Amino acid sequence: MHRFLFTACVAFFLFTVSCAFAQARQISAPASEEDQGPVPVPEPGEKAVSYYTSGNALWVVNQLWVLLIPALFLFSGFSARIRDWARKLGRRWFFVIGIYLIIFSAVNFVIDFPLSYYQGFVREHAYGLSNQAFGKWFGDALKSLAVGMIMGFLFLWVPYLLLEKSPKRWWLYTGLLFVRFIAFVLLISPVWIDPLFNDFGPMKDKALEGKILALAQRAGIEGGRVYEVDKSVDTKALNAYVTGFMGTKRIVLWDTIIARLSPRELLVVMGHEMGHYSLGHVYKGILFFSALILVTLFLAHRTAGRLTGRFRDRFGFERLSDIASLPMLLLLMNLFTLAITPVALAFTRYQEHEADRFGLEITRDNRAAATAFVKLQEENLGVPRPGRLYKLWRASHPVIGERIDFCNEYRPWKSGQPLKYGHLFK
Ligand SMILES: [Zn+2]
Repeated sequence: MHRFLFTACVAFFLFTVSCAFAQARQISAPASEEDQGPVPVPEPGEKAVSYYTSGNALWVVNQLWVLLIPALFLFSGFSARIRDWARKLGRRWFFVIGIYLIIFSAVNFVIDFPLSYYQGFVREHAYGLSNQAFGKWFGDALKSLAVGMIMGFLFLWVPYLLLEKSPKRWWLYTGLLFVRFIAFVLLISPVWIDPLFNDFGPMKDKALEGKILALAQRAGIEGGRVYEVDKSVDTKALNAYVTGFMGTKRIVLWDTIIARLSPRELLVVMGHEMGHYSLGHVYKGILFFSALILVTLFLAHRTAGRLTGRFRDRFGFERLSDIASLPMLLLLMNLFTLAITPVALAFTRYQEHEADRFGLEITRDNRAAATAFVKLQEENLGVPRPGRLYKLWRASHPVIGERIDFCNEYRPWKSGQPLKYGHLFK
């Protein structure tokens, strides 16, 4: 994936609102219809342990990669050269920034290609997690590149104008504008961006849709906000997520999850998603992540000046408002994002846990919730209790073993305790 300021941060944010029911595959054991005590957490298989271990190594490679590549652009003077080309082609300030971004993104796409191809295509096929034809994978990658270029062309001038006009406070104004930018991206994504990659429509199974809409009504969500998407062309994974903002807010179910989970399990998953929806997690996430972005922008601001002062001859620019500084800002943002990732993930884990609670309270179907997570773990090649470092830096959701434990234990209605979210149910 190509990385630059906006998409990096937005992707990071979108990560939070999409749900944990990711990357599960075909289901083996059918759900028991009877309540027979707690559902045991299965031990991970050899393949799952291998996927986990190699995934951690790959994660480290990725973290180094997003620091190393921008550093190469900077220290080789290549960034300054791209700026010179952009000046010749664009002439005017606005176009110079846009053209720089397009060349930079295209070069990045080529450099990133081997790693993206390996982890997005080869590896997923090797572990039997992908259904995607190479043409679809490559086409989607090109579309993402084009979307990134268009968004960058339209918006990257804003922080650069602020850098020019207010070298001391640009990070603050950029951070404040970012709240609006994320809200804008979330508003348009479900209607203009997501349909570029897959087909979205109403649910095909009308009986099941009826049950889901009845549950949605109890959660206070109006009808027509549940969509089905044909993700089976891409993956064997199971997923459901909440996306959109204001008028485009919706719950999306992958067709794979509809096919693989039992109706009871699917309703618990929907209860979880409705929790995100009813508890305003999208809105709170926008605020929280904008605050984090403000922090990383501030830290980048504090360090960027010193770096430029020291290496100006090698970098080929003197001021941050020079578009050739983009790789440096990206490098610093990536570095500080890595440092604050544990804070971000603690926040998303909290939201996910509360969505689990909401799902259990509205369905009271502990057994189906637990068996859904067991299927998720097994089919996802998940490890139920990963190490502490994994939890701190990689787990956007509570670890699956803890989620199963919670589903087994959480029954306040049995002992007459009040529900935390009962007041939201109709
Ligand atoms: Zn979730």
